[in-house]
Amino acid sequence: MTRALRLVKAHDNQIAARYSRAIDQFLEAAIEEARAGLREGGFPIGSVLVCEGQIIGRGHNQRVQRDSVIHHAEMNCLENAGRQKASVYARCTIYTTLSPCPMCSGAIVLYKIPHVIIGENSTFLRAEETLRANGTRVDVVQNAECIELMREFISRNPELWNEDIGV
Ligand SMILES: [Zn+2]
Repeated sequence: MTRALRLVKAHDNQIAARYSRAIDQFLEAAIEEARAGLREGGFPIGSVLVCEGQIIGRGHNQRVQRDSVIHHAEMNCLENAGRQKASVYARCTIYTTLSPCPMCSGAIVLYKIPHVIIGENSTFLRAEETLRANGTRVDVVQNAECIELMREFISRNPELWNEDIGV
């Protein structure tokens, strides 16, 4: 490998490392939200909305806490971010610990949020194709803690989980 090529490769690695650290930091914030939900007796699903490196909204599933059919993690996060202009959503990435359901995917498509980073889709996967079909970039990181939080919760609360996903 030439020196120039080595330099380019080192530079690419630096960018990749910076990018993955940023993902870790925001996914970690979403996981904190998921843990907060669990502590409240609710579903361990969290979400953060990030605009150009800043968290502008965060939230977690509130189905149990608020008897809500709407406040999934992503919906709660978007609600907490408040009304935003299309030009803001266009610069956002939404992080969620679990693959979004059709309702939350609909909101992401409606507000044209261009990028979704998903903690895991091994315990639930229903609407990622809808997101992709609408031009949304979807990245799934299969984070071990996200998977463990959901597996544990579903095994303890199967009826609650089935109710949440309309089964
Ligand atoms: Zn949802």
